[in-house]
Amino acid sequence: MQLLNDMLNALYTMPLEGVSLWALVENVVLFAVALVIGHFLVKWNKDRVVSPPAPPLTRAEVLLAASCVMLNAVVTVAGVILWRAGIIRLRDDYSLLGAVVDTVVLFFAMDFAMYVFHRVAHLRLLYPIIHRTHHLYENPRPLTLFVLNPFEVLGFGGLWLVVLVIYHAGVPGILIYLTLNLAFGLVGHLGVEPMPGRWLKVPLVNYVSTSTFHAEHHMDKDHNYGFYTLIWDKLFGTLSPEYMSDFESAAG
Ligand SMILES: [Zn+2]
Ligand SMILES: [Zn+2]
Repeated sequence: MQLLNDMLNALYTMPLEGVSLWALVENVVLFAVALVIGHFLVKWNKDRVVSPPAPPLTRAEVLLAASCVMLNAVVTVAGVILWRAGIIRLRDDYSLLGAVVDTVVLFFAMDFAMYVFHRVAHLRLLYPIIHRTHHLYENPRPLTLFVLNPFEVLGFGGLWLVVLVIYHAGVPGILIYLTLNLAFGLVGHLGVEPMPGRWLKVPLVNYVSTSTFHAEHHMDKDHNYGFYTLIWDKLFGTLSPEYMSDFESAAG
C-alpha cells in the first residue's frame, strides 16, 4: 500500500505535463496488454467462433484506436485534475472490505449507466454522431474494443468521472474495477467464446456477460445493450431471444 500512496502523492504534486505523460504511458501499456491477452484468447478458443472472422485491418481502424487511447489519457488527466481540485474525493481506505464494496458499487453503477448511455447512443438522432463508427466493425477482433468515435470515448469517460464525483471510492476498488472493465470489453470483442460451456447453467454466473452476448449486439442492434451483466437487458426486455442457443452453439 506504501507504493500506491507514494504514487498518489507524486500525482498530486507533479506538474500537469508529467501527469499527461504518465496518463499516456499508462493507457498505451493497458492497450498493448489488452491486445496481447486478446491475441492469446482468440488463439486458444479458435474453434469456439461467435462471429465471422474480421476483414483485413484498415488504416481507419488503427487511427480510431490510436485516438481512443489518447482520449482515454485525456480522461485520466481530467480525473487527476478533478481529484486535485477536491471534486473527486478518494476514500483513504485500503481494507479488503472497502475494496470489495467499492468494486461492487462501481461495477453495478457503471453497468447501469453504460446500458442507458448505449441505448441513448442508438437513438436515431445520436447514432450517426456518436456510435455508428463502432458498428462499422461488426465482426469484432480485440482491437475493435478501442475502435470508437471520439465523442463516444469522451461520453464513456465522462460517465466514469461523474460516478467518481458522486461516489467516494478507495484506490484499490478503482483499480480492480478498471481491470474488470478492460477484461469485459476485451471478452466482448474477441469474436470467439472463452467462457466455459456450463456458463449459462450456473445460477447468477449466467447473469455475467459473455463474448457471445456482445457479438450478438454487433449482429442485431435491437438487443444486448449491456456490458458486464445481463441484468438491465433482462429487466428492460432487450435480451436477444437467441442468446442461449447462440452461446451453446459457440461454447457447447
Ligand atoms: Zn462492440
Ligand atoms: Zn451499439
